[in-house]
Amino acid sequence: MPTRTIFFHISPTMQVVFYLLSLLSLIVCGWGFVRRMKLWRNGLPFPKVTDWPKRIKSLADQMFAHRRIRRRSYAGKMHALIFFGMFVLFIGTNIVAVEHYGALIFGEHWLYKGSFYLLCKITLDLFGAGLLIGTALALIRRYVFKPPSLGQNTMDGAFLLLLFAATLTGFLLEGAGIAVDPKRLAFAGFSPVGSLFSNEMHGITTGTYALIWWIHIPLVLSVIAALPYGRWLHLFVAPITIITQPDRSMGVLEPVTMAQVEETGRVGLGNIGDLNSWELMSFDGCMECGRCTDVCPANAAGKQLNPKNIILDLRKLMAHGASASTDVISDESLWACTNCHACVRECPTLIRHVDIIDGIRRFRVAEGRLFGPAATALRQLSSRENPWGLPASQRLDWAKDLDIPLVQADTEVEVLFWIGCAGAFEPRAQKTVRAITQLLQKANVSFAVLGPKERCTGDPARRIGDEFLFQQLAEANISTLNGVKAKRIITQCPHCFHTMKNEYPQFGGNYEVLHHTQYLNELIAEGRLKIPKSLNDSVTYHDPCFLARVNGETEAPRNLLNSTSLIPLTEVDRRESKTFCCGAGGGRMWMDDSPNERPGLKRAEELIATGAKTVAVGCPFCKVMVGDSIAQVGGETAPQVLDIAELMLKAVQALTPRPPLPKTGAGELE
Ligand code: SF4
Ligand code: SF4
Repeated sequence: MPTRTIFFHISPTMQVVFYLLSLLSLIVCGWGFVRRMKLWRNGLPFPKVTDWPKRIKSLADQMFAHRRIRRRSYAGKMHALIFFGMFVLFIGTNIVAVEHYGALIFGEHWLYKGSFYLLCKITLDLFGAGLLIGTALALIRRYVFKPPSLGQNTMDGAFLLLLFAATLTGFLLEGAGIAVDPKRLAFAGFSPVGSLFSNEMHGITTGTYALIWWIHIPLVLSVIAALPYGRWLHLFVAPITIITQPDRSMGVLEPVTMAQVEETGRVGLGNIGDLNSWELMSFDGCMECGRCTDVCPANAAGKQLNPKNIILDLRKLMAHGASASTDVISDESLWACTNCHACVRECPTLIRHVDIIDGIRRFRVAEGRLFGPAATALRQLSSRENPWGLPASQRLDWAKDLDIPLVQADTEVEVLFWIGCAGAFEPRAQKTVRAITQLLQKANVSFAVLGPKERCTGDPARRIGDEFLFQQLAEANISTLNGVKAKRIITQCPHCFHTMKNEYPQFGGNYEVLHHTQYLNELIAEGRLKIPKSLNDSVTYHDPCFLARVNGETEAPRNLLNSTSLIPLTEVDRRESKTFCCGAGGGRMWMDDSPNERPGLKRAEELIATGAKTVAVGCPFCKVMVGDSIAQVGGETAPQVLDIAELMLKAVQALTPRPPLPKTGAGELE
């Protein structure tokens, strides 16, 4: 019967030594975990965890399907080989332990025998080979390819070498076992990789077998002991982080209440103790892969901001206790963040970099540590309720020649068109709202605007870090909106869209909010708006972060563009949820960038490289940032930058016969 003897040729004395070493290894490992868990407890209480089915699905997605990890081909395959190899070997070791201790009750070979034994054998052999290959790939990546964002921590390399040695000696031991044990030789085909080693080991003695055992076992026990002392801690922590992740969706910040401020005496994240236990734990879940930094537009533009280092710096800080100050994060890094959420989308362990960055911003703003144009924008938001600081009476100046109805308390309209501060005051955005208005009129939509009653949604205040100013604006807007009879709200700005749709519910404002591209798409689908496919220029599209990545809307803009243009959309590589930020988010619209450090420049190069004559956008801030960068990079031959609504209006106008030119004296025949 196929089976094998556990502790084959290992004397009882040596078995006692093995148990003592194992105990030592488990104590070192356990102590490491307890030490980290104590640090997590320095934070505010762990958030309440509900909705377990959704969480289990998310864990299965990230852990077993490697959903985010496999986005990278080489690193994804490497990680899968290591993860599944370790996972299966861990299960296999437990089966052997159950067989061994179960034998005290059920007698020897009660479980690990016959077909089950053979199935285990071949599975462990193949997954062990996967682990060996995965570890080798990781070593090659670390020492040959050396991607900069990975870092060059000596301990990481040492651990990989240890893991490689432990796995390799496991196969040596398997080969030696086949060579010295005739019972195992009979079923060697079920250990294909082990057999390769055994071919070279014919004639070895049981003493040599025991020697290899004593090389292999300390290596394995060292791997176990080392787990909680470096990036490998993520193996255990990341699954817990994932399954207990906050249930706020991406881009939604947690509100601060006055009660919290009274209790803690501060706003935001000033010290390590201001973070909650989940956030502190999530730092230990970081696998130090550098994916967050690789996609960070601020980092790519040469700024100091490095989201991976923010997490690692705070992780180091945890060791200094709850009162350790978050001042380790420099102002330069902190204010460079555009809140684009590329890092959050990319992180395989679901770390929320933006919550941390914006939390520290809240603290520094409350402490009066924000200066320059962003501080001016906040002051203007506070005094004039818009970051441009212009009077509310000018909010409808863009529509002087258009017949735009103002909302009336007793008249119900299909949609309330939320113009937004950019639409009201920024000349390029004004063109967009004019185009949308004309399209709504063409589709006979009953709509109205708030005009001077509109005020900033508070988005810039929240992202810059003035949470109470945001709440003040949000509550005032909610009170206005609750008095309006409109079934739906449409916005031309993805930031207004996100804030009203996803963050106003935190304050009791529940509305159906649509981005203008979603609504226009709906009008076309219903046959209420007919757009001729008449434009003959190539077009590419820049997805706004808060529409595509944060809110997942990528289809509606593309449907609209394809329905207006005779030439199919020319796509840029980084698109949809992988889009690359224009550099305006997170309040950066109101901060200074040196001309060569604009994230928009990189984006402009990518968009120009498509060869398209027009770059379509769906956000007023992208229009400014991408537009300026394209002009800087592309010079006189730069493509034009237009909102999708403007392109749609152009398509309509292209087929509308022009009125005959008025006759003038010039050129008339006598
Ligand atoms: S949100 Fe964007 S800019 Fe900010 S750290 Fe993440 S990737 Fe960088
Ligand atoms: S924070 Fe996430 S993406 Fe960044 S290095 Fe850590 S695990 Fe990787």
